[in-house]
Amino acid sequence: MTARILVVEDNPANMKLVSMVLAKGGHHVLQAEDAESGVALAADEQPDLILMDILLPGMDGLEATRRLKTDPLTARIRVVALTAFAMKEDELRIQSAGFDGYIAKPIQYKSFLQEVERWLSESAGPRGPAI
Ligand code: MN
Repeated sequence: MTARILVVEDNPANMKLVSMVLAKGGHHVLQAEDAESGVALAADEQPDLILMDILLPGMDGLEATRRLKTDPLTARIRVVALTAFAMKEDELRIQSAGFDGYIAKPIQYKSFLQEVERWLSESAGPRGPAI
């Protein structure tokens, strides 16, 4: 299943790696280096899935996701956090911001693509359990 996936990530090395893996998986990648342009791009391009870094310059990924989920234009788009955070309180912060789930960094090629495919297949059907 080929999808259009928006990646919001300020770290150039992570952006390059994530984009390469998604492209090898047959997906079309849209890129944003900060939350403001990511939110704007999401509204304009209506991607199938958004992968959102948490720590970003200016607005962070939590606030960006709150905005995406409260805007009727983007509220239906699945937003998955790309995060190195693994602590329970971080998981709760991610959940309360409205993220549909998260993928832990550093990403592993095969499991990352499998997780992306899972999120894509879930976007096509009824909403599953959050996180
Ligand atoms: Mn970052």
